[in-house]
Amino acid sequence: MIFIKRTAPPKELTDEVVKKLTNLYKEKNSSVWAKRYIKDALLNMSHNKCCYCEAPLDQQGLYMQVEHFHPKSRYPDEVVSWDNLLPVCPTCNSRKRELDTIKVPFIDPSEQNPQNLFTINNYRYVPKKNNEKARKTIEVLGLNSVDKLVLNRFAVGNALLERIEKLYKSVSVNQDDYNSLVPNATELVGVLESVQRNNAYSATISSLLINSEYYKKVKDIFKKNNVWDDDLKKLDSEARKIAFDQL
Ligand SMILES: [Zn+2]
Repeated sequence: MIFIKRTAPPKELTDEVVKKLTNLYKEKNSSVWAKRYIKDALLNMSHNKCCYCEAPLDQQGLYMQVEHFHPKSRYPDEVVSWDNLLPVCPTCNSRKRELDTIKVPFIDPSEQNPQNLFTINNYRYVPKKNNEKARKTIEVLGLNSVDKLVLNRFAVGNALLERIEKLYKSVSVNQDDYNSLVPNATELVGVLESVQRNNAYSATISSLLINSEYYKKVKDIFKKNNVWDDDLKKLDSEARKIAFDQL
């Protein structure tokens, strides 16, 4: 889970339209939120990922649903209120259901930075400082369910760790030769790009990379040889903004 910076509402969703759709929902219980322009704006806001589990929403079987953070059944006035809408995968949506998030502590990733609430340990989410809101969110969404999430995080995480290990081996052969380090810098850009916020499970994999001993060693060698340039610095700093602390 990563912090989602809320974008401006889609231009079609004017105050007037919100009022009209809200009334329609209250009168006829129709799916007024199911508009292409709402879905597109939400997907764009979350880099095509579920706002909770970071599963990609463009893969087979993982179509996007519109999540009402405050459930529409309890809070019908918020049925198309932009600040209440998030993109979600079918699994997270069916787990959260009509949970009353006004009363039950639950994380809204567009309001709170998950980095401050979770750490990660062996691909499993752990509440920071026994935070109750984090604990409840893990429990309700099943963020540590093995078949759905832990294995998916492991698959991308393990491939990443193999890639950085391979890169370290290549870098360590000619540690002080600027010319042989340059092509490796291109590979490191690729590695860092693969953990940025637009990638599936980015909180997990950015954390794995930042905390990897091979990554730290490669970075040190690059710095020593002036290969650690502005592009790499920027990518490293962006990855740190979403990475969880590791236990
Ligand atoms: Zn999800």
